[in-house]
Amino acid sequence: MATESLSPSERAARALKQLLDGNARYVRNAAIHPASRPSAAPQSPLAVVLSCSDSRVAPELIFDQGVGALFVVRVAGNTYDRLACESIRFAVMKLGVALIIVIGHDSCGAVSAALEHYPATGVGPLVENIYPAISAAKGGPGDPIDKTVRANAIIVAERLAGEADFAAKVAARELMIVPARYAMDSGEIELLRNPEGRTHAGLR
Ligand SMILES: [Zn+2]
Repeated sequence: MATESLSPSERAARALKQLLDGNARYVRNAAIHPASRPSAAPQSPLAVVLSCSDSRVAPELIFDQGVGALFVVRVAGNTYDRLACESIRFAVMKLGVALIIVIGHDSCGAVSAALEHYPATGVGPLVENIYPAISAAKGGPGDPIDKTVRANAIIVAERLAGEADFAAKVAARELMIVPARYAMDSGEIELLRNPEGRTHAGLR
């Protein structure tokens, strides 16, 4: 079936599968490095990736995708501000992207810094944007950094889902927003909420 004839939710599901297939190739050291030459063709990316700026979390590499496949916004701590939101909005509204994946990762320095400063104010948005995740994740067993990383990706995805233009698209199943966690050691992407929008048990 041609991509053009698919509904937005089918395109999003297909895009997510392509990314996860690419990640599986990357993990087993079988990357095929598709479309790795310059291209001036009109772009039609598979997905928006909002990831941490950490040098070890390189979206095109970890998903084994080529030029033109990913519309990438990177911010240390994988949160976003108005400028980043406008970038994402461009991809969704103008380029027709139906999938946004928000990627946190273990051992995140931005999350560690946020935990050190919490709840001090005036520290700056990079750190303070992670505070809601700290509030959500604190208490109970488990590593505070990893719990916050998971909560942060979920909260950022939920916040994006409520943004102007996006909320209606999410409700109409024209836009899928998926939080995920990247594992530094294995290179594996773990979805923190399945494509139907259900959050995995124990992550809230
Ligand atoms: Zn990080």
